[in-house]
Amino acid sequence: MPQILSMVTPFIDIHTHHPIATTTLEPVCLLQCYGIHPWWFEKHPETEFLEQQLQLLEAMLNENRIVAIGETGIDHLHKDTLPLQMKAFEQQILLSEHFRKPLILHNVKGTQEILELHQKHHPKQTWIIHGFNGNIHEVQQLIQRDILLSVGESLFHENRKIINSIKSIPLDHLFLETDMSDHRIEDVYQRAAELLGLSVERLKDHFFITFIRRVGFGALSLVEDLSALEMRNTASPKVLLMAPVFGSRMDRGNSNESVF
Ligand SMILES: [Zn+2]
Repeated sequence: MPQILSMVTPFIDIHTHHPIATTTLEPVCLLQCYGIHPWWFEKHPETEFLEQQLQLLEAMLNENRIVAIGETGIDHLHKDTLPLQMKAFEQQILLSEHFRKPLILHNVKGTQEILELHQKHHPKQTWIIHGFNGNIHEVQQLIQRDILLSVGESLFHENRKIINSIKSIPLDHLFLETDMSDHRIEDVYQRAAELLGLSVERLKDHFFITFIRRVGFGALSLVEDLSALEMRNTASPKVLLMAPVFGSRMDRGNSNESVF
């Protein structure tokens, strides 16, 4: 695809909740995600809530308004709602396969369940565990199942496992993110580049190619968007995958509007 090669490679932020990113003057290509977060069941431990959320998600998928489903997943620190979390996760796996959208996963002590469900469903769609901070053994287990790993905030803390394990993640299975942190995606790239001993430019190229290959979002429309942005601004453009904040609703196009 020669158009891609001739453009400025963007930073990819594979998972953020920061509406602030949309208010800067920097060239930004904003892509929406929606998923039923495991934490949401803390406030709404009812099956009706799950059903209602699944309907909302399915409507968005039908209208092709989101590029990925997420985040969903498992959080063992919220033990009481684990059965609902599992049910929601599995339903979202089915939707991801049916609508051919990648899954972005929240994982707190849930690696075993994630591996088991991946084995059970044999998904064709890409799974990306965000906020990854596991050891080399976990990296190997997940890579073996072709699950991608996204890292962010943990890179700035010397005692985290990811500081040692990041080098064991193949570049075509790695993404970077800002999630809820105050770091800019440029700084996350800089920090990862230091730890990996590679240049930021090289990382940008790698992650952009992985993005096109594995997130599979209509690459050509993305390129068109970025070319338009580039004309307005010479700064390096960014592609952000926005995930909803709890209590927000996207279906009115306002991510700050509280409905729960
Ligand atoms: Zn998140």
